[in-house]
Amino acid sequence: MQLKDKVAFITGSASGIGKEIAIVFAREGARIVIADLNQTAADATAAELVASGAQAIGVAMDVTDEDQVNAGVEAAAQAFGGIDILISNAGIQIVHPVEAFSFADWKKMLAIHLDGAFLTTRACLKHMYAQGRGGSVIYMGSVHSKEASLLKAPYVTAKHGLIGLAKTVAKEGAKHGVRANVICPGFVRTPLVEKQIPEQAKTLGISEEQVVKEVMLKDTVDGEFTTTDDVARVALLFAAFPTNALTGQSLVVSHGWFMQ
Ligand code: NAD
Repeated sequence: MQLKDKVAFITGSASGIGKEIAIVFAREGARIVIADLNQTAADATAAELVASGAQAIGVAMDVTDEDQVNAGVEAAAQAFGGIDILISNAGIQIVHPVEAFSFADWKKMLAIHLDGAFLTTRACLKHMYAQGRGGSVIYMGSVHSKEASLLKAPYVTAKHGLIGLAKTVAKEGAKHGVRANVICPGFVRTPLVEKQIPEQAKTLGISEEQVVKEVMLKDTVDGEFTTTDDVARVALLFAAFPTNALTGQSLVVSHGWFMQ
């Protein structure tokens, strides 16, 4: 029970990586806020956790909407008596070469990944600082926080940007015992990635199998996808760490695709 009675606010947690982190954190004793776009999906995920004996609630929010974020974080803090952990995880992917990227899609990508991270951080820090019991802010970066790939200009830009935000929050939060770190996963087979496989095959003019083997997993040490469980283990390490010794860091979990 490494997170007993901690309150974890997890965005984008009705699916994929965020959902797995919610399950693992609930198992470790945390009270979970499933924050996602759609109330029905958030409630359904929260209900699964409650059925397994955890405390969880669903909160609907678009992380790019300032009012929705503030209201959702406030409601969660009221329900559970504060916020101890933020996992800023909600994200999407849109792939095009730079010369074909619409400005609207560029702005949408930066809004979800960067505005969403800022807005949820600001709303949660207010509670973490006032509570005086420290906290942990964790951003879902990517290998693309360190490395570029074809067709992903705004994603790579935003994921690099999260490292800057984390370092700043680490410096500002230290005196309140609030740590900030970034997890940088390789490819994980979630709906976000399933959608990219046919899209990249079409844009690059290769088969879907080639996209997986020759694009996504080409540089891993073993040709394996990273799993949601791999990522949740790293999230648990960052969330449960007891001191400011581990802050302002970014950890790559990618089957060796990117080595620092
Ligand atoms: P996913 O599509 O399975 O889940 C993403 C969740 O985010 C969904 O539940 C979706 O409803 C939610 N979401 C999207 N836009 C939102 C918004 N504006 N407001 C609130 N919620 C919103 O994707 P995933 O693969 O689990 O991705 C989660 C995070 O992990 C993303 O930030 C992604 O960039 C990152 N990531 C994924 C991979 C991968 O290979 N899957 C690798 C590295 C990093």
